[in-house]
Amino acid sequence: MNVETLIIGAGAAGMMCAAHAGNDVLVIDHAKAAGEKIRISGGGRCNFTNLYASPQNFISQNPHFAKSALKRYTQWDFIALVDQYGIKWHEKTLGQLFCDTTAKDIIAMLRAEMEKSGAKLWLQTDVKVISRNAEGFRVIVEKSGRSTTIQAQKLVVACGGKSIPKMGATGLAYQIASQFDIPVVAPRPGLVPLTFSDEKFKPLAGVAAPSRVTTARTSFDEAILFTHRGLSGPAVLQASSYWEEGEAITLNLDPSGTLLQKLQQDRSTQGRKALTSVLAQHLPTRLVEFLSADLNLSGNIADQSDRRLGEISAALSAWEVKPAGSEGYRTAEVTLGGIDTDALSSQTMMSKSVPNLYFIGECVDVTGWLGGYNFQWAWSSGWAAGKAIAAG
Ligand SMILES: Cc1cc2nc3c(=O)[nH]c(=O)nc-3n(C[C@H](O)[C@H](O)[C@H](O)COP(=O)(O)OP(=O)(O)OC[C@H]3O[C@@H](n4cnc5c(N)ncnc54)[C@H](O)[C@@H]3O)c2cc1C
Repeated sequence: MNVETLIIGAGAAGMMCAAHAGNDVLVIDHAKAAGEKIRISGGGRCNFTNLYASPQNFISQNPHFAKSALKRYTQWDFIALVDQYGIKWHEKTLGQLFCDTTAKDIIAMLRAEMEKSGAKLWLQTDVKVISRNAEGFRVIVEKSGRSTTIQAQKLVVACGGKSIPKMGATGLAYQIASQFDIPVVAPRPGLVPLTFSDEKFKPLAGVAAPSRVTTARTSFDEAILFTHRGLSGPAVLQASSYWEEGEAITLNLDPSGTLLQKLQQDRSTQGRKALTSVLAQHLPTRLVEFLSADLNLSGNIADQSDRRLGEISAALSAWEVKPAGSEGYRTAEVTLGGIDTDALSSQTMMSKSVPNLYFIGECVDVTGWLGGYNFQWAWSSGWAAGKAIAAG
């Protein structure tokens, strides 16, 4: 069978590319349904983009690479598409846009766009062998137990990263890159909960608190969540993408910097209360109990000098903890690293060394922050490749 363009992966980037890549497009995927990660994303409501998406919200060895695609297909373009389909949405927080009803609306929209452009979709199709010949690419696949050879002029690799193997992630993109001698920046889990070897936070499992989480490279102000295995919550997930094994992180449990002042006020208004009870008005009770021995939180608030309250506030704003590792690809929302952007055109996503071979979406070394940025990269890179393919 011959096609002009074969896209491997019917996820966010692959479907977007298929909708724009012109005639004679076939998308294949080994999953039972297209867009499975879209379906489960954002708690089933898909955080499909971010109002403030800009190149600064992406991690890559080359921070300039994503600029072109993000500028040519923006969050406003995707919002316009969503509006065109009458999909209702709302801003949850920090510019994060979610569907009002269900993430399935986004999948249905992308499937409709694919149908409009005449793209075909084969599900439950496994890639067996890929080779290059004079006409382009020869791909042997297995569908319903039968082997089929597809001859394609152009091949688009859109099969994502390694995150959540249970959802169908295989890392095939990196194998294809290596087959064609295209460099790959070592993949690692991103937007992932951090773990601690001694399970020290087990008594705090379920406790959440606003915090500033600082790594050697950056900091994020959002909630943290203690888990049985360690730390999660948006601020920790964000920081995890910048954290490297062996490093400590700092938790600032007083991100607004107002705790000392509040404690001084409390001392004059409720001096007979225990220091721990007063602290529990500003921090979760279980967290105060947990820290009580280490910080020697004994006595009434009236007994605490300014200096002592200063020491307590300072300790709570600079709590250094050293993660042993992360939960890994099992729960990571994204895969950091990937196809080295130096090997790709930032305009078209085409390989510089293998003509007509494209890489888009999460498999590329461009990783967004938490908050709709990763889908925006999938839309922008998929669109850029699709437009380039359609233009011939
Ligand atoms: C739980 C969870 C929630 C998330 N929530 C959000 C969110 O709300 N907002 C946001 O911006 N990002 C979110 N993300 C990240 C986002 O889902 C990804 O960045 C995005 O899906 C990447 O798009 P992609 O098309 O590159 O890859 P994918 O969407 O992963 O698509 C890849 C496709 O390739 C197929 N495939 C893989 N291997 C093979 C193979 N060997 N043969 C054939 N097909 C193959 C897969 O089945 C899949 O359909 C979330 C991720 C997870 C795991």
